[in-house]
Amino acid sequence: MVRGSQKLQFGPLMKPNLPQHPAPSDALARQTVPPVICYNINDLPRPNLAALRAARSGWHQISTTHVPPRDAAVFQVPAGHFFRILCPDGPQVGDLNLWNANDLSERFYSGKTRALHGTHLSTGDQLWSNFPYLRPMATITEDTLDWYGFDTFGGAVHDVIGTRCDPYTHTLLSHSEPYHSCCHSNLTRALVSHTGLPLDQAEAHVHDVLNVFMCTGFTRDTGQYFMKASPVRRGDFLEFFAEIPLLGALSACPGGDCSTVHSSDMAQCYPLQIDVFAPLAAPSNWAAPAPNSYDRTHGLLAKPNQT
Ligand SMILES: [Zn+2]
Repeated sequence: MVRGSQKLQFGPLMKPNLPQHPAPSDALARQTVPPVICYNINDLPRPNLAALRAARSGWHQISTTHVPPRDAAVFQVPAGHFFRILCPDGPQVGDLNLWNANDLSERFYSGKTRALHGTHLSTGDQLWSNFPYLRPMATITEDTLDWYGFDTFGGAVHDVIGTRCDPYTHTLLSHSEPYHSCCHSNLTRALVSHTGLPLDQAEAHVHDVLNVFMCTGFTRDTGQYFMKASPVRRGDFLEFFAEIPLLGALSACPGGDCSTVHSSDMAQCYPLQIDVFAPLAAPSNWAAPAPNSYDRTHGLLAKPNQT
C-alpha cells in the first residue's frame, strides 16, 4: 500500500496540507495520464480576423467615454462597430461587463468564454453570451499587450478567471468599514444611472467580468488566484469588434495596477477610456451571429418533427 504522505505525487500538492487518504498503488499512472483539451476551438466557427481588421481602414470615431478612477462608466457600440479600451494615463486595470443593448438578459458569460478560449484572452478570441443565447458578443481584433504571454509565475493579461472585486467578499475578509468603490458597486451605480432601474434590479444584471489589462494566474502549489503589477502602460489598448449591439460598462478598479491591494483607497488609480469607431462598410461576408440553435427541450418534450 502506498501512502499519500510518501513522495508519490506527480506534481506539487494541490493544497499545503498533507492528504488524509492513501494514494492507490497506481497513483502515478493515474496522475500521468495526458490531458485532453475540453473544447476543441477548431470546431468553432472562427472569425475572419483579416476581414475584420481590413474594415478598420477609413473608420471614424463616433464617441469617447471617460472612466474616472474608482468609478465606472457605460458605453454603447452598434453591431458591426469597433471599440477600444485605452489606458490613457498611468497603469490601470479595468473590469468589463457586456450586455445585448436591446435585452439585458443576454450578457457576457466569462465561464464559458474561459472554457472555450482559456484563462486569458487576446486577439482572435471571442466574448460569448450566456444561455440560451451562447453566441459571440464581441471579437478581440487588437491587443497591444499580446507580447506578454505567460510569465514564469504563470501570470498573463486580460483574464476571465477572476470575478470582480466586490463589497460582499470585502465584508467577509475584512472587519473594516464597508467599501463602496469595488468594481461590483461601480458597475452597479453606472447601470442604475444609465437605465434608471431600481438599485436591486440593476445589481442583478452585473456579472463576472473580463479583467482588462489585469495580470493574473493561479499559484502552482495551492492553485490560488493571484494578481501582480499590470504591464499596461499609457497608450496600450484592447480592441473589440461588436458582433451584436452592445451596452458595456467598465470600472476602473480601485486596485489600480493591482500590484498590491484592492477594495480600498490605498492603491494609486488612474482613468480609463473607451473609444468607439464606425467602419466605412461592414467587414466582407460578416453577419451578426444568431442566437444558439439548440431547441431547448432538454429531453422533456418531443421535437416537433418527432410527434
Ligand atoms: Zn476591481
